[in-house]
Amino acid sequence: MAKWADVIVIGSANVDYITYVPNLPRPGETVAGTHFETCFGGKGANQCLAAAKLGAKTALVAKVGQDATGDDYLTYLDKNGIIVEHVEQIKDQPTGLAQIAVSDDGENNIIIVAGANACMDGKAITRAKKLIQNSKVLLCQLETNVNATLCALRLFKGISIVNAAPVLKEMPPEIFSSPSIFCVNEVEAAQLTDRDEIKTLQDARAAAIDLIDKGANSVIITLGAQGAVYMSKDNKERCLHVPAEPVDHVVDTSGAGDAFIGALAYHLARFPNLPRERHIYAANSVAAHSIQHRGTQPSFPGEEKAHNNLC
Ligand code: ATP
Repeated sequence: MAKWADVIVIGSANVDYITYVPNLPRPGETVAGTHFETCFGGKGANQCLAAAKLGAKTALVAKVGQDATGDDYLTYLDKNGIIVEHVEQIKDQPTGLAQIAVSDDGENNIIIVAGANACMDGKAITRAKKLIQNSKVLLCQLETNVNATLCALRLFKGISIVNAAPVLKEMPPEIFSSPSIFCVNEVEAAQLTDRDEIKTLQDARAAAIDLIDKGANSVIITLGAQGAVYMSKDNKERCLHVPAEPVDHVVDTSGAGDAFIGALAYHLARFPNLPRERHIYAANSVAAHSIQHRGTQPSFPGEEKAHNNLC
């Protein structure tokens, strides 16, 4: 049994069925796709793999089906060096899936069927308790049972990140206040703060203040091509903007957010005492690599993109 990890992830594992289309279909419209790929995905597994590929010792707490897809997923995670002793195969449930369409201009839309992911529960967290407590960074999203996520956050004393995606209809107040870092993209930040949209850095700053007022200890809002902003509850006057790494040609933005968060977790585990600006700079750089390559997990870079000279 593994005793510790740099990054432990509690979250989803899905298979992504990706179609590439000239433009995303409107409701009722049928469009001809140009090609099709099947990839491993799910925000939990994606973020775990992003950290693992950079060189982190990672563990995943997740559920997959007791089916061929689940077997393949376990083998694949294991091959990538991820500790899988807490990835449980569930009888009578399919492995979760995501149907993703990606347009020529790099935009995407996504439909998810939870399958085995819906079986995540407090027992899984209890079984993984020692490993969770001995790990450096705990990373969670909201694609699996939020009460199980809260159990894990209560157990954990290190640096924790909640990526509040997707936004839930009912957000428990503790999901804002428990983690060290509350991280969302601009769409989720707008949803959570009752804004139509977040376009400017001023909008992002105002949303970050609202999220701190909801109880967050610190907030990161990712802003696509504008990079990300960071705010800590200790200094609401200061909204730190870390610009994105410039990219000439965007190929596919799916997975950019997961690349960013996995990389953030990796750099926090390796350099916990450095200023957040450095961690976010490194995460932007890894995400910029991801959007220049097709797919989600296949677009994540390896150790050559880890910023190991952040000091
Ligand atoms: P996803 O497409 O995976 O859902 P997301 O919407 O969760 O992504 P974004 O805020 O769009 O997340 O992007 C995450 C990070 O990816 C950004 O903070 C930035 O570092 C990088 N990024 C995204 N788009 C661009 C771009 N056009 N140029 C450079 N970097 C980018």
